[in-house]
Amino acid sequence: MKSVADLVVVGAGPAGMATALEAAENGASVTILEADTLIGGNAARSTGYLAFQGFDMQGEQGYHDSAELFVADMLEEIDRQKSKYGIEFDLELAKVFAAESSSTYRWLVELGFEFNRFLPRPLQHSVNRMIDVTDTGMFTKVFHDALVKNGVDIRTSTRVRRLITDGDKVIGVQTDHERFEASKGVVLAAGGYQANLSIRRKYQPEYMASTPYLGTSYDVGDGHTMGQEVGGELINMTMIPPLIMVGSALIEDSIAVNAEGARFHDEAGPYDYRVKELHQQSEHLAFYIYDNETYTRKTQLINEMPNTPISAASLTELAEMIGVSPVGLNKSVESWNEILKSSQKRDPDFGRVIFPDGRREIKVGPFFASEMIVGINFPAGGFRVNRDLQVLNVYGERIPGLYAVGDCTGGLGPVIGMGGMRITPALTLGRVAGRKIALEEFETTDHLQESGQYLPGNALRVAVIDD
Ligand SMILES: Cc1cc2nc3c(=O)[nH]c(=O)nc-3n(C[C@H](O)[C@H](O)[C@H](O)COP(=O)(O)OP(=O)(O)OC[C@H]3O[C@@H](n4cnc5c(N)ncnc54)[C@H](O)[C@@H]3O)c2cc1C
Repeated sequence: MKSVADLVVVGAGPAGMATALEAAENGASVTILEADTLIGGNAARSTGYLAFQGFDMQGEQGYHDSAELFVADMLEEIDRQKSKYGIEFDLELAKVFAAESSSTYRWLVELGFEFNRFLPRPLQHSVNRMIDVTDTGMFTKVFHDALVKNGVDIRTSTRVRRLITDGDKVIGVQTDHERFEASKGVVLAAGGYQANLSIRRKYQPEYMASTPYLGTSYDVGDGHTMGQEVGGELINMTMIPPLIMVGSALIEDSIAVNAEGARFHDEAGPYDYRVKELHQQSEHLAFYIYDNETYTRKTQLINEMPNTPISAASLTELAEMIGVSPVGLNKSVESWNEILKSSQKRDPDFGRVIFPDGRREIKVGPFFASEMIVGINFPAGGFRVNRDLQVLNVYGERIPGLYAVGDCTGGLGPVIGMGGMRITPALTLGRVAGRKIALEEFETTDHLQESGQYLPGNALRVAVIDD
């Protein structure tokens, strides 16, 4: 069977859904193909932290932000990371994202998204700009309704296997049973490669390559593989930072304790700092502790974690079951609750600034413990693209008909540690791609070539020298 549209989008996470919706809103006929039974991708399984600049919630609170400040914060994060990974950060793409992020906020609100509160990350976002969606189920429901309303053909349980080319141009995709042709382009939006151990083994040290991952098992790097087959260049593939396998929204309501039952770090601090602190504890053993109310509210996130939580009617019993000091655990919970009862804005012991919504204490039994386990969540690597989100080959030349968005791109990957910096860029640059492809309004020059990073015709020159 054969089906034809202007645009075929591979993957219905936030990047693919935003691309499809914006393209359809701009008059294109769009088919979106999703391997899973539901749309939403990892955003529907996430904590739902998003980061924007210059939006009304900031204005209401008197926070002054700008695209320039947002970009400056990203550059500081790159400085923090570049001693650990070989990084290629795409500054031009960062500028496009930062500038367009405020319109993405408005767009989401118009679609029906609701947001809750600011989550401060002072070490990475110099001004409060990260907020959480009230319910990550909106990534499935709200987008489904909007895509249907705009006539997008949504095919779930449909895994794309190969790109179809005509000469060097990508003209469609092949699934197990069907061929989908695209007159204006194919967009790779199939997420990351965290669920593919054989891809990870190529890029991660052996001891990390088989650690658990969070999120969908469909993110097996299909987009990366298919784009590579037609010559797309992958960057930042080795940046797959170890982190603790926990959704940030669970941490808001939890404390972490070691074998002495004592807190030992800012639970909501930077991802790499949390891993370092865990490794300094005896036998690298520690647990997140939370109560029944949190368990009930955040069951979905808890189920995403690698181990089933252990529960007990009292903190003392829980401590005995997990082998930590009961006296220590009771004391830690008590002093945490005292901090919450006070009006202190910063935890005096470890400088934590993220508190439970409504400063809710840990007090409603049964109590739960989830072991802190190191794994991965955010692989940074993906395709090098230009400002039009066109996939580039190793010479910096566009691959006709092929685009990439979200976790299939690599240029903004290295700022993953800031928080909220996966979903918002996926949505924002997805919108940019959708609009440009639908309207065929591309930039005439290529920022990578402008910057001298690539010289057109490199391949030819090498061939001439070889002769
Ligand atoms: C537990 C957790 C918490 C997170 N919290 C946050 C957060 O608070 N803030 C933040 O910014 N980021 C967060 N992230 C990361 C964020 O969710 C992802 O980076 C983001 O969803 C990437 O968007 P995407 O559209 O590129 O890919 P994805 O959301 O991964 O979507 C890709 C889609 O493509 C589909 N697919 C894959 N292969 C194929 C194929 N061959 N054919 C068809 N379909 C295919 C997949 O099934 C999936 O639906 C979190 C992730 C997890 C797992």
